[in-house]
Amino acid sequence: MFPQRLTDGYRAFLGGRFAGEQSRYEMLAETGQRPEIMVIGCVDSRVSPEVIFDAAPGELLVVRNVANLVPPYEPDRDSQHGTSAALEFGVQALRVKHIVVLGHAFCGGIRAFADEQEPLSPGDFIGRWMSQIAPAAANLGPRAPDDDGTYLRRLEFASVELSLQHLMTFPCVRILVERGKLALHGAYFGIASGRLLVRDPDTGRFEPVVDGLAGRSSTIGF
Ligand SMILES: [Zn+2]
Repeated sequence: MFPQRLTDGYRAFLGGRFAGEQSRYEMLAETGQRPEIMVIGCVDSRVSPEVIFDAAPGELLVVRNVANLVPPYEPDRDSQHGTSAALEFGVQALRVKHIVVLGHAFCGGIRAFADEQEPLSPGDFIGRWMSQIAPAAANLGPRAPDDDGTYLRRLEFASVELSLQHLMTFPCVRILVERGKLALHGAYFGIASGRLLVRDPDTGRFEPVVDGLAGRSSTIGF
């Protein structure tokens, strides 16, 4: 049976948001989508880009995968590259102007890699997928024995940084960035606090995006 939660939610959507935005949906159906911003986010159910950025239909092109990773450009024929295909669609077909890699606190994929846990699935897609961040972890050096949790946050930041570097290995991305037609951004969502940090391209540091609005205080930090 189709989940009742979804039937109820759909009914609420139809009478609420869809009713209020039907003309926008009709226009998008007629003219096609033209989002200017692409977001590469995590599958984590707490980090929905459309919710965090209060997006209307047609505004964000979103691709989500485990730990918001962009693999390097690998045009081989033996593998399937879902994220790379979405990237190509966004950049070459829709001509988005911005790509945001959205990391987040308490990322299960990052933690699984850092803790060297058993793969979450017997098929081990996740273990192989997460091994991509090994260079980011190598850059950070070993985790301190008395680490208070900051290591995971630094690894979450570093994996966003690595994905930004991987984006530039795609010829279609690099050319448009160099021409000033496409901008790449790193961001990080704090979940418990609601804080949004954005990577400063000059310093590489992640800073609050809104002055004086550091999100709600939270007893568990981020
Ligand atoms: Zn995650």
